[in-house]
Amino acid sequence: MNVQTERHMQLSLPTPEDVAVAVARLNGVAHHSPIMTSTTLDAMTGARLYLKCENLQRGGAFKFRGAYNAIAALSPAQRTKGVVAFSSGNHAQAMALAGRLQGVSVSVVMPHDAPAVKVAATRGYGAEVIFYDRYKEDREAIGRDLAEKQGRALIPSYDHPDVIAGQGTAAHELFQDIEDIDVLISPLGGGGLLAGSILAAERAAPNCLLYGVEPEAGDDGRQSLKRGEIVHISPPVSIADGAVVTHLGHHTFPIIQRKITGIVTVSDTQLVAAMSMLAERLKIIAEPTGCLGLAAALTGAVDVKGKRVGVLISGGNIDLSRFGRLVSTPRN
Ligand SMILES: *Cc1c(COP(=O)(O)O)cnc(C)c1O
Repeated sequence: MNVQTERHMQLSLPTPEDVAVAVARLNGVAHHSPIMTSTTLDAMTGARLYLKCENLQRGGAFKFRGAYNAIAALSPAQRTKGVVAFSSGNHAQAMALAGRLQGVSVSVVMPHDAPAVKVAATRGYGAEVIFYDRYKEDREAIGRDLAEKQGRALIPSYDHPDVIAGQGTAAHELFQDIEDIDVLISPLGGGGLLAGSILAAERAAPNCLLYGVEPEAGDDGRQSLKRGEIVHISPPVSIADGAVVTHLGHHTFPIIQRKITGIVTVSDTQLVAAMSMLAERLKIIAEPTGCLGLAAALTGAVDVKGKRVGVLISGGNIDLSRFGRLVSTPRN
């Protein structure tokens, strides 16, 4: 048996019970985010859509749930030593905020050319930002090195049992609030949100169909499902910057594989259309990645006709000038 296979066999995958534990930890800490409906969207899709607005979550995305849960699960000794994350996106801010709330030191490894607003937001929550040159250095190696030297726990953005269980609490709330959801549609990057949602569904809505939505440019998840193994792709180019990962995780893939109904894709143009629709009709500001699920319902990539459909709007972190540029691009 090679090292790789051996490592996989020792994986301990999170369970629906772990989501229940995360629900208790996040109670009174994470926002119980609102669920929005729209007769216009329902008329356009022929479905009843329930939008779970994680763009209104603390830190502006569902990532706060996984980050907080993972830090809460640490031993007292680990909490004293602190944690490290590598991310230039929503996971960085989520970790910084979750660390501050729990009095745990957080270091975030970010590319030297990360947007200034993201660096400022992460620092604003009290985390230390460590820069690396993304053309010359490997951020995972830097993160691991830091973890080893300072004894910090490495908390990745999706491939971690407590992160996955934490992300599952969003879908858990949706299933608690709305009865008889037939279909749940989730954005798909590395699979933390989707795998967590699957665990939540296994307990609360076992007959619910589950779909993941990727940007067209990076359909590694769809390829992985087809091949029955994790497929690696080169970094995709899409406006859905929260979902441009190159591969699913060792923890997320097996959970997705055992239960998923389908993985579909949408184009950047379709994302912009969904983003504009959310702003115009529902006054919701979502980031492009946050619109993957709604775009799949609007385009018919997921068959929603006549169904009660939960859609995870996963995040809303986008600066207004970029938002303006995207929604003012002519569409047809
Ligand atoms: C991280 C992120 C995703 C993708 O989540 P995964 O757990 O990596 O699949 C989707 N939307 C937003 C807003 C994100 O920040």
